[in-house]
Amino acid sequence: MRSAWEKRPLIISGPCSAETETQLIETATHLAATGVVDMLRAGIWKPRTRPGSFEGVGRIGLPWLQAARKLTGLPVTIEVATAQQVELALEYDVDVIWIGARTTVNPFSVQEVAEALKGVKIPVLIKNPINPDLELWTGALERIAKAGVNDLGLVHRGFSSYGNAEYRNAPMWHLAVEMKVRYPDILMISDPSHICGRRDILLQVAQKAIDLDFDGLMIESHIDPDNAWSDARQQVTPQRVQELFASITWRREDVNSEAYHMALEKLRQKINQLDDELIELLGQRMKIADRIGEYKRENNITILQTNRWNEIIQRAVHKGEQIGLSREFITRYFDAVHMESISHQKKIMDR
Ligand code: PEP
Ligand code: MN
Repeated sequence: MRSAWEKRPLIISGPCSAETETQLIETATHLAATGVVDMLRAGIWKPRTRPGSFEGVGRIGLPWLQAARKLTGLPVTIEVATAQQVELALEYDVDVIWIGARTTVNPFSVQEVAEALKGVKIPVLIKNPINPDLELWTGALERIAKAGVNDLGLVHRGFSSYGNAEYRNAPMWHLAVEMKVRYPDILMISDPSHICGRRDILLQVAQKAIDLDFDGLMIESHIDPDNAWSDARQQVTPQRVQELFASITWRREDVNSEAYHMALEKLRQKINQLDDELIELLGQRMKIADRIGEYKRENNITILQTNRWNEIIQRAVHKGEQIGLSREFITRYFDAVHMESISHQKKIMDR
């Protein structure tokens, strides 16, 4: 198992749910035959938003997974949400477990899983919580780590947002990137299936994750996707998994070439120099804002002058657009500068 966990990119694939022994075994053997899959996933217990949907086959599916592993050699991973499910996963020698998005949101449940994992050596993947809250994701990671689990990974499956038509779960990439920055040594897997909720945009989401230096992918695959008992619209055949893998441009974070490093170093020096100059200029700009603040205080004028601010933004957006800087960036940048000016002027007013 060690070697599979350490493989990069780590490709996890399998059905949303284990439905029947035949469905699981056939999917697994076809996935193994692609040669690109490192681990088999299958949902045994399915947390469903509405009652009455298929809620998983439960423990009878666990021997099917053992059989699939025996046939294919692929390690297997399932979702767990309770202590009892952890115990069953261990009893049936599941190789890796994952905590689902609906569980990560609930510290009681995460703690229950953590307690059940004490003293157990099994790798654990933690999906992001349904809502865009990095503290919940971090909290789950901390709870599982505290239980003594050393092999930890994160799965980015997107965040629920009202009225979003393009994605089933909005990726909000900056949140996954922030987690990568917080935990640079922890595995980060992308789950394009649950982000997209449909097949046609899986490739572009997977490619973006790889461009952002994610460590692997979890892709739902079913021998007969249209007739899957859960998440039918987003599942793809094993053959399609192979095609997706082949269509991705795999990138390296680094190369050894001397010329590449020298060129990059030169450009980085330039960036550093420009950043220094920008900070210097911002300091000068702020000093002028301070002087304006003094005048405003002497003349008893409000700090915020909306007309003047609109004029500044309009000039900047126009100038920015001429050199390829988006309106959104210019607005965000100037908003930050404006907030800083206001807080400087407020200090002067309060003196
Ligand atoms: C799943 O992986 O099938 C699943 C239920 O995912 P999530 O917890 O991300 O919704
Ligand atoms: Mn699913």
